[in-house]
Amino acid sequence: MNETQIEKIIPAVAIRDTSIFPYLSVPLSFGRPKSTAAVKAAFRGTSERFLAIFPQKDPQIENPQASDLYPIGVLVTLENFLETNGLITVIAKGISRIRLEEVVSKDPYFVARVSESPDIGEKTNEMKILSSHILNEFRKAFNLGKQVDIGMLMKLSSGIVSPSELSYQIASNLDLKPEERQGLLEETNVKKRLEKVASYLAREIKILELDQSITNKTQARFEKEMKEAVLREKKRAIEEQLGELSGAEGDERVTEFRQRIKMAGMPSEVKKKAEKELGRFAQIPPVSPERPYLDNWLDWLTGMPWSKKTPDKTSISRAAKILNEDHYGLEKVKERVIEYLAVMKLKQKNGAKNKNKDLSGPTILCFMGPPGVGKTSIGKSIARALGRKFIRVSLGGIRDEAEIRGHRRTYVGALPGRIIQGIKDAGTNNPVFMLDEIDKLGQDFRGDPSSALLEALDPEQNKEFSDHYLEVPFDLSEVMFICTGNILDTIPPALRDRMEIIRFSGYTQEEKFSIGKKFLWPKQVAAHGLSRAKIKDEAIEEIIRRYTRESGVRELERKLANICRKMAKLEAEGKPVKEAIDAGKASKFLGTERYSSLLAGKKDEVGTATGLAWTEAGGEILFIEAAIMPGRGRVILTGHLGEVMKESARAGFSYIRSHWQELGVPRDFAKDVDVHIHVPEGAVRKDGPSAGVSMTTALISALTGIPVKKEVGMTGEITLRGKVLEIGGVKEKVIAAHMAGLKEVVLPKENKKNLDDVPSSVRRDLKISFAEEIGEVLEQALVEKIKPKPQKKVESRLPVSMLPA
Ligand code: ADP
Repeated sequence: MNETQIEKIIPAVAIRDTSIFPYLSVPLSFGRPKSTAAVKAAFRGTSERFLAIFPQKDPQIENPQASDLYPIGVLVTLENFLETNGLITVIAKGISRIRLEEVVSKDPYFVARVSESPDIGEKTNEMKILSSHILNEFRKAFNLGKQVDIGMLMKLSSGIVSPSELSYQIASNLDLKPEERQGLLEETNVKKRLEKVASYLAREIKILELDQSITNKTQARFEKEMKEAVLREKKRAIEEQLGELSGAEGDERVTEFRQRIKMAGMPSEVKKKAEKELGRFAQIPPVSPERPYLDNWLDWLTGMPWSKKTPDKTSISRAAKILNEDHYGLEKVKERVIEYLAVMKLKQKNGAKNKNKDLSGPTILCFMGPPGVGKTSIGKSIARALGRKFIRVSLGGIRDEAEIRGHRRTYVGALPGRIIQGIKDAGTNNPVFMLDEIDKLGQDFRGDPSSALLEALDPEQNKEFSDHYLEVPFDLSEVMFICTGNILDTIPPALRDRMEIIRFSGYTQEEKFSIGKKFLWPKQVAAHGLSRAKIKDEAIEEIIRRYTRESGVRELERKLANICRKMAKLEAEGKPVKEAIDAGKASKFLGTERYSSLLAGKKDEVGTATGLAWTEAGGEILFIEAAIMPGRGRVILTGHLGEVMKESARAGFSYIRSHWQELGVPRDFAKDVDVHIHVPEGAVRKDGPSAGVSMTTALISALTGIPVKKEVGMTGEITLRGKVLEIGGVKEKVIAAHMAGLKEVVLPKENKKNLDDVPSSVRRDLKISFAEEIGEVLEQALVEKIKPKPQKKVESRLPVSMLPA
């Protein structure tokens, strides 16, 4: 700034809303008449075109007076006059700070006497530091986004600018209120002015920083969202790609299933469902937990033999031949099986001719009999004869309907039921399907498996058998079901009604011998790879007698296998057995005998009667014990007895009470005693009414003190009036008696007809007598005759109808 004090009388204008500092060139526009007149005057005046500019204190005032102006203003020189629509624009270059000394004239424009208002204070080091600080800060503001004239910034940075000019240059760029601007203009102390500028600059930087952080935050948020969107998009793309990959991998499976569906020969509705589910399967991502479930299901569905079957090729005569080839004896069984096959064939023929023809009727075969009598074996032969697959499933202990019908496929580890499993194993839809242990089928809260089974077996229903797992019906009508069981009683009646029962009774010694010799021995020899192995008849007989006690031939087969194994071992050791196995050798191979005669060591005893029973294991003899003890007329029964058996014990007891006289027992004996009946060997559950006669005999023996002949076996149901009624299993019982070495059996008279079933070899050895009432049994069984009580008078309190006839 000029050092010399200058005073000037020049045109002056009032300005509002704009700022002008020394050192700065700014465009100014003037519109008010006083102002334009002053500007024009300035242009007309000296060559420098001086103009004094004073900011107006209150911008609202339209026509300000001298007192309305700040006393400190700026002296400017004017350039570039431009008048448009009464508005004059000029470039005003700030020369120096001036003070308004006096308004010389007001009209037509202000003319003022002004004096220069110079800066005060030395140019100090502090100022320099302050200046460079401000400059730095200003750059920072610029970096923070402040709008700055780059040229000016470069000029300031060059270092040629004085601290005074710097303060105004920077100030002109700051966002200041009019008072603040005026304050800076009026500040003559450069240092103070710099400090003020620095503080305004700092304020502005703060705002800028705040601004920036807000922008940054917004930016950050925006970017985050952006990023997420991008990531999501990427993820989708990756998944898509993976999906395609898995699609490629899964495609193999899908293609495989598609192919399998095509080949499976499914009924159309099943196929539709399979295709629908396959469509779903193809959509499921490989990592989905649902996938293995569906995979498994499709595997099952497409693995079922929907239309795969073996052709029934055989003639009845060939079937008969095969059955005979494979089995000794069993004449009745074979005969009925052949009949059954003949009917089946006829039905198939008629069925093919006439679809509407009623084909119903009991078509499920059921083989009943003790273990080891050839039920399975006959089943296999049937399959062989028909050229069908054979499949065997045990129903023993099944209590849950789901075992038959499967679990819903949403269960973890769900599988189809045993029927469908069996069919899949068979690989054809017309196998011979054997259901073992149908008499051991349970029933509880999980549903009734027998009703599910019935649905599977019943030809009326099984065209559309529904398995919970498969969900689609499977046609079981081509399947030939054969059930097997040991006893009939426990088979649910609904099932029993649908079945054609074929009984397998036990074998006699002779039959066992023949089976052993002709079938089991050659079979075992072949199975053990023995080149030549012979067995003497006496050895087989010895094994049957001493090493087995069974109705069938399983134990016999096992024993023969045992011998073969020992022989094979010897042969392998280079010491082959050359001579035929005799009884002694067999004993040596098999070790100490398991069974001695049942009767051995038994005496004729009081209170013990020999009963003939028929259990799951076949016929057997039982020693029934009765004991009398002080008490009050109760009947106590032990030995794993069924309800029916208990009932018949009570019936026998009642008979004795009402026939005390003829039985020679004290009249009111029952007042003071309890009777205890025990049936030993309690492992097998025994039931049925056929032990009634032997229990009653044992009781009478105990009450009369007359022993029972141990060699007389007896069987028969007893009534309250002492009648002996028909029983079942005569053949098995008589064979068992024979095998046990009994001399005589007493049977109900009504069972005389069953004697034909008993092999003649057995009939030859046994005395068989028949009884209509208990008296006749006692006659045969008791060691001596009963002495009736001497007749006094009729003392019975029983109704006449209950008296013995
Ligand atoms: P189940 O099914 O009645 O329990 P199996 O059919 O398993 O009895 O028979 C046991 C063994 O005895 C089998 O090896 C079987 O071939 C044989 N078997 C049973 N009865 C005869 C028979 N009458 N003729 C030939 N072998 C028989």
